[in-house]
Amino acid sequence: MSNQIRVTVWNEFRHEKSNDAVKSLYPNGMHVTIGEALKKNSDISVRYATLDEPEHGLTQAVVDSTDVLIWWGHCAHDEVSDEIVKRVQKRILEGMGLIVLHSGHFSKIFKAMLGTHCSLKWREVAEKERLWNIEPGHPITEGIGEYIELPNTEMYGERFDIPTPDKLIFISWFEGGEVFRSGCCWERGHGRIFYFRPGHETYPIFHNEQIQRVLVNAVRWAKPRVFMEHSAPNTQPLEKLSEKKVQFGKAGVAQNTDGSNK
Ligand code: ZN
Repeated sequence: MSNQIRVTVWNEFRHEKSNDAVKSLYPNGMHVTIGEALKKNSDISVRYATLDEPEHGLTQAVVDSTDVLIWWGHCAHDEVSDEIVKRVQKRILEGMGLIVLHSGHFSKIFKAMLGTHCSLKWREVAEKERLWNIEPGHPITEGIGEYIELPNTEMYGERFDIPTPDKLIFISWFEGGEVFRSGCCWERGHGRIFYFRPGHETYPIFHNEQIQRVLVNAVRWAKPRVFMEHSAPNTQPLEKLSEKKVQFGKAGVAQNTDGSNK
């Protein structure tokens, strides 16, 4: 295994082609802006994958050689094939990290990993957002300080229909009054999952240095400690066991040594 954390940044990459405002903020796509920020760190290597590539850029070979997958999607969640979602889900359960950004809350892969609708309230009026760092000792908030302030964002409000996070590390306040669980950590199988709310395509969110710092920290946190394929083996005891006079059947019913249960 390489010493570097092998990150694949996946982007739907549609808004950047069809919307001039988004194109001017992210001329090469949000994935490239995110990737350039990650690549400034020598312990991280970056590849890109986008929806319109064959297999959405997530071939078996790419998935098998990815340590952390970052996901940004919005208007074309339904175009992601179920087969690719299953492939990615299996790899997360085996140990791959997953970082889901902003409108990725409605992606097939996020919903598959969490098992809930992942719905929320939203409003787009360019209001101010303050993300409060409520876990200053957590690896993902290292160097962030007390809060991140974004002058213009799309609002996401509670209730966010997710399973209670294993660890909640950011809570957002919005100018319009809502709050939101903006930084959420889970473990599923051997994989670590981080959801991070900011990232609406018409604001320069991914150019913000604090946001970039969170992403770098999240990559390091989500990197696999182990890759293990699913198995459920029948196994021999490590110690020599004494012969049992009474046996139990599969349903836990005591049986005499002649096999009867009277
Ligand atoms: Zn948005």
